[in-house]
Amino acid sequence: MDFDLPPEDDPRRAEIRAWLSNNPHPTGRQLAEAGYVAPHWPKPYGLDADPIHQLVIDDELRRANVRRPENMIGIGWAGPTILHAGSEAQKERYLLPLLAGEEVWCQLFSEPGAGSDLAGLRTRAVRDGDEYIVNGQKIWTSGAHMSKFGILIARTDPDASKHKGISYFVCPMDTPGIEIRPIVEMTGTHMFNEVFFTDVRIPAENLVGDENEGWSLAKVTLGNERVSLSSGGALWGRGPTAGDLIDVVRSRGGVHDPVMRQRLARLHIEEKVLDLIRLRTVSARIRGEPPGPEASIRKVMADEHGQHIMQVSRDLCGSGGMLTTSGPLGAPSDMWYYGYLFSPALTIGGGTGEVQRNIIGERVLGLPHDMDLSA
Ligand SMILES: Cc1cc2nc3c(=O)[nH]c(=O)nc-3n(C[C@H](O)[C@H](O)[C@H](O)COP(=O)(O)OP(=O)(O)OC[C@H]3O[C@@H](n4cnc5c(N)ncnc54)[C@H](O)[C@@H]3O)c2cc1C
Repeated sequence: MDFDLPPEDDPRRAEIRAWLSNNPHPTGRQLAEAGYVAPHWPKPYGLDADPIHQLVIDDELRRANVRRPENMIGIGWAGPTILHAGSEAQKERYLLPLLAGEEVWCQLFSEPGAGSDLAGLRTRAVRDGDEYIVNGQKIWTSGAHMSKFGILIARTDPDASKHKGISYFVCPMDTPGIEIRPIVEMTGTHMFNEVFFTDVRIPAENLVGDENEGWSLAKVTLGNERVSLSSGGALWGRGPTAGDLIDVVRSRGGVHDPVMRQRLARLHIEEKVLDLIRLRTVSARIRGEPPGPEASIRKVMADEHGQHIMQVSRDLCGSGGMLTTSGPLGAPSDMWYYGYLFSPALTIGGGTGEVQRNIIGERVLGLPHDMDLSA
């Protein structure tokens, strides 16, 4: 944890401050064109910013109360993969609108029989002249109903071994033959969808990288991480933190139940440990070292920490916990009720807790490889 942010008179700070004084309320497009949405991307989409420069930009945007466009899958996963393997035409067509938040993206990876075992996917794409014809089904597709494009992986060579013969496509979500069916979660909201493909014709120019080489690109998609100083909330960066819950308890006179006091102290300790792991990762990146196993360790701990916060918050509601309007100790419900119902998803999405532990077992502890029962 041996780093300080550059001082107030650092020229990189001066540059973004000058830009912000000319653009005090920037649109997504203005932020994207200035390279401030993903500053670590190469020019002209980003600024080739090193980790310290990224942190300076984050710091200045936060001070000016400027939020970046929301397009998590587009900016976080689709964009880096297109940058890595897309053609120049694909980069020109997709990257700027995606950074500006003008075209939202979804991820068409999971299938009813292929989640943790993603390479077992069965959706087929068959080449037919200048097009591929896609048939199959995807599930748990967050935001498919609001998306302009999806990143799609489908099997193009069924005779190849499991990890070969998969290709990676950009799929326009309004193509005929795509049916999007909503899945309403127990939170009462509709975020997920089932997506059915029946003879969907995708132009061959939408193939990203080479045919049958999609598995390595899927790994690029899932492995993208930028440097970020802020720890964010307990629900994958959103929502309240342990500190927020402890503030609520303090402002309402504290708790006297010894077990509840122990649980609150435990939340505080978990939060501090996660902060230290995060700072270690940032510090390593600044020294030019690749992200280490901390990423998997942190994901396991942060997801379970989020669930612990939400369980304690619900228990602090007492019998009021049965009401949607009740927060801890009678505080307004805000994110607490939704957060409690969402929190089981934390240890499933983005790689389950068990799968992350397999990674830690194999890559950190050097234990034998997980058995592939489906092979
Ligand atoms: C909030 C949220 C958002 C999501 N958004 C998307 C999205 O936008 N696009 C998309 O494609 N997918 C999305 N998903 C799906 C997600 O990627 C899968 O749910 C996840 O990969 C797990 O797959 P599965 O549900 O098929 O469970 P399975 O893989 O069937 O797992 C079932 C259980 O078996 C365990 N298990 C499986 N394999 C092993 C093993 N080798 N060792 C030990 N235990 C094992 C798992 O840990 C789990 O407990 C989302 C999921 C969530 C919760």
